Amino acid sequence: MTRPSIIVAGAGIIGASIAFNLAQKGYAVTLIDRTAPASGASFGNAGGIVNNSCVPTSTPGIVFDVAKMLTRPHSPFSLRPGYLLKALPWLIEFLNQSRQHRVDQNADQLHALTRHAADDWLKLVGETALTRYVQSVGWLKVYSSTSSFANTGFTRQLMDRLQVPFDVLGAADIRRLEPALSPDFTHGLFQSDALHITNPGAMVHEMTNLMLEYGGIYKKMCVEQISMSKNAVTVSNQSESLTADKLVIATGAYTQPLAEMVGDKVTLVAERGYHMMFPRTTASLLSRPVVNGDSSFVLSPMETGMRMTSQVEISGVDDPPDYQRIRHLTRLARSMLPDLDTQEESVWMGCRPSLPDSLPVISPSSVSNNIIYAFGHQHLGMTLGPVTAFLVEQMLAGEKTKTDLHPYRINRFKSALS
Ligand SMILES: Cc1cc2nc3c(=O)[nH]c(=O)nc-3n(C[C@H](O)[C@H](O)[C@H](O)COP(=O)(O)OP(=O)(O)OC[C@H]3O[C@@H](n4cnc5c(N)ncnc54)[C@H](O)[C@@H]3O)c2cc1C
Repeated sequence: MTRPSIIVAGAGIIGASIAFNLAQKGYAVTLIDRTAPASGASFGNAGGIVNNSCVPTSTPGIVFDVAKMLTRPHSPFSLRPGYLLKALPWLIEFLNQSRQHRVDQNADQLHALTRHAADDWLKLVGETALTRYVQSVGWLKVYSSTSSFANTGFTRQLMDRLQVPFDVLGAADIRRLEPALSPDFTHGLFQSDALHITNPGAMVHEMTNLMLEYGGIYKKMCVEQISMSKNAVTVSNQSESLTADKLVIATGAYTQPLAEMVGDKVTLVAERGYHMMFPRTTASLLSRPVVNGDSSFVLSPMETGMRMTSQVEISGVDDPPDYQRIRHLTRLARSMLPDLDTQEESVWMGCRPSLPDSLPVISPSSVSNNIIYAFGHQHLGMTLGPVTAFLVEQMLAGEKTKTDLHPYRINRFKSALS
């Protein structure tokens, strides 16, 4: 059987994983990006491959948490006032998803994807040079008080229900894992089956380069128009066009206009997040990413230095960044890791593509099976790149997918919004 030719739009971790896998399997694949590989959220994340992650963002009581946080300066969650009207349909649906039965369903459906995350990462990188970025070090969250740890009760209940393996740690256990952390941390949650990517941006670049070695093509091109005939899809802009049998749209938080061109309405926002890099020498202070559960930020040791990531800012993808949102955490980073040299090397902002139910869209378009969506992976896009890649491959081959994809269909909010 001849394999269809494929265009993959968007060279973040989702598009790069899809294109790399398809090229390995012998498909004629062209990966395109309007800027460069890893120019979106995939560049600057914390690199956590949080296997078995199952907690959606919208949970019971979130309405009170959000209201509280919106009134606190520098809280981990913010909404740009000028963006409120635009975000309103998403926010309404987000609150709707906090009802217990929806939360349980969303947790099941998130877990149905993430439980394959570590295995699928190891399968995708195989024996290639990409292995040098993958560490099997787990995912650690730490808390400095009983009351702060008590807030994880709901998370632990969900994890228990889904039989997600995790360990509850005391002060001595935390110290054994991460001796440089402040002794203030007395409680911890540890998921030992998580992986860590030590340079997410370089990982996406190298994946793209390896795809070329398997015969794939990379092209810098901005998709401004999409047209379809019965057997082909064309993407174009004012100066060029490209046609293939199938198109995969993996443009993350920037997908709304492309979906509208195809004829689909999506309830997508950018949950913008920030990072700050500390000097290269600081990376050796930790062996794995550590979440500060009291103050909602992560210190993640990267090849290039210690990376602090944080913040959810609901705002337009093109609104200017507000780097104060990450800079104000420097003091807390130093008290979490007393030896940390907090000299700022760089700051960065990226857009997490998020739907109200915390589930991605992995689905044919509603108008043609020749267009497949793969976006909306919110806080877990790095985790879910290879999972998504293997599912897209099965869809293209017309095979039964390993996970039932109905929950991730493009039009699942249609009735809620019409
Ligand atoms: C601070 C922070 C920390 C995070 N930490 C983690 C973590 O530890 N673990 C985890 O799993 N996830 C994490 N995430 C989430 C993760 O980074 C995202 O879910 C993931 O990067 C999304 O990947 P993507 O490929 O869908 O989108 P992106 O990486 O944003 O890529 C989309 C690409 O599409 C291109 N594009 C857009 N429009 C067009 C067009 N019209 N034509 C052509 N190309 C186009 C863009 O240039 C871009 O390169 C974090 C995110 C942030 C912000």
